Amino acid sequence: MFRWHTVAFWEWNSIDSNEVCGICQSPFDACCADCKIPGDQCPLLWGKCKHCFHLHCISKWLETNNEGICPLDRQPFEAAT
Ligand SMILES: [Zn+2]
Ligand SMILES: [Zn+2]
Ligand SMILES: [Zn+2]
Repeated sequence: MFRWHTVAFWEWNSIDSNEVCGICQSPFDACCADCKIPGDQCPLLWGKCKHCFHLHCISKWLETNNEGICPLDRQPFEAAT
């Protein structure tokens, strides 16, 4: 039982509620500025650089910034799969 508890605990911690999206500055347990309801409709996307954004925020960012760089570290942004 303890092992399952640990896994659940780790998953919860993988989203730090003190962390905010580097683009819209909303916490990750809230949705992006364009959405009204957090959750499946507004998923999060991790990059290989370990930065995390709302999917809507990073896709809008990459559309308007043709270099395709991460807004936080200015490295080419690649989604982690
Ligand atoms: Zn966002
Ligand atoms: Zn959204
Ligand atoms: Zn980054």
